Amino acid sequence: MHPHDLGDDRPAAPPDTATVSAPVSVPVSVPVSAPASGAPDAPSDTDAVTRTFDAPGLRGVTFHEVRAGSILERLPGARRAPLERVVNPYLGCSHACGYCFARTTRHRPGHGAAPDFDSQIVVKVNAAELLRRELAGHVPAGGHVALGTLTDCYQQAEAHYRLMPGILAALGERAVPFSVLTKGTLILRDLDLLRRAADAARVGVCVSVGSLDTGLWRALEPGTPPPAERLEACAALTAAGVPCGVLMAPVIPFLGDSPVVLRETVRAAAEAGAVSVTPLVLHLRPGVRERFTAWLSEHHPRLVPRYEALYAGGSYAPTWYQRRITGKVHELADEYGCGPRRREAGRPARGRATVA
Ligand code: SF4
Repeated sequence: MHPHDLGDDRPAAPPDTATVSAPVSVPVSVPVSAPASGAPDAPSDTDAVTRTFDAPGLRGVTFHEVRAGSILERLPGARRAPLERVVNPYLGCSHACGYCFARTTRHRPGHGAAPDFDSQIVVKVNAAELLRRELAGHVPAGGHVALGTLTDCYQQAEAHYRLMPGILAALGERAVPFSVLTKGTLILRDLDLLRRAADAARVGVCVSVGSLDTGLWRALEPGTPPPAERLEACAALTAAGVPCGVLMAPVIPFLGDSPVVLRETVRAAAEAGAVSVTPLVLHLRPGVRERFTAWLSEHHPRLVPRYEALYAGGSYAPTWYQRRITGKVHELADEYGCGPRRREAGRPARGRATVA
């Protein structure tokens, strides 16, 4: 688990005023983006500059600054949207969520859940200039760009590296439709850019809030802003004309799935002006599953057999369970005015944004 001080890292103070280690240029094996063809990432030996920052939220994290070879990647397995592209300016995420499936993603092939996923962050310092160049070369017709699919674009490092303003500007200038999914309240820094981009193309923003339970937040999402602050960000975005949805993810079985918790979360999302609430039940891929089970064994040992039964079929909870959660959340969302029925009724949205 990432060694964040739970009380100090929200939101991360820009480390510009903090002690910054002298940069060291060392050859390290770091991932460099795959080309837009979708070829898998290939770790390469690249001269990376490594830095550490003595600032809240960033202590204990090492940043590897690299100049990536490309930035627009094809969304893996996106059969329904073959033109969909993703941009991940960071690899690794100091939000340090205990259930994060990105720990096992391809930038660390064959390594299972990377223990240093939270504390060794690759920063593609040329992400914005690269994106601008790649968009100038080929903008896929109707192509949608998803930001923050592997890691959170608005993790603490973004306060220092400021990669997102350039990325948003590049997308906005080309009127490329895009979506942002984040747990970071730092997104509000870029409100004007989002608003301008939404005037030119379809823009979707979604904040991720599994529940309002502060115990679960502290235990499982130690590097993130509190759920209530994420909902405040949702409210601010929507009020500014950038409609924002809530991805209720992950719903943690037996800990964050009670009717009371679901109702409280959906109601708070609705009060924050969320234009949609979409639940996603916890999934436990190999690597993450062992890590999560270890946490469960320590803190909720009586739930271990129930989890073994629920996830006996693999990484995902059974369909009946997922349907039950989805049905309940949608029912509540309809009750509070931000559910599927309301959207189907053609509720006019402010601005031109859509939900991720
Ligand atoms: S914010 Fe997202 S990418 Fe970052 S650790 Fe949490 S789940 Fe993973």
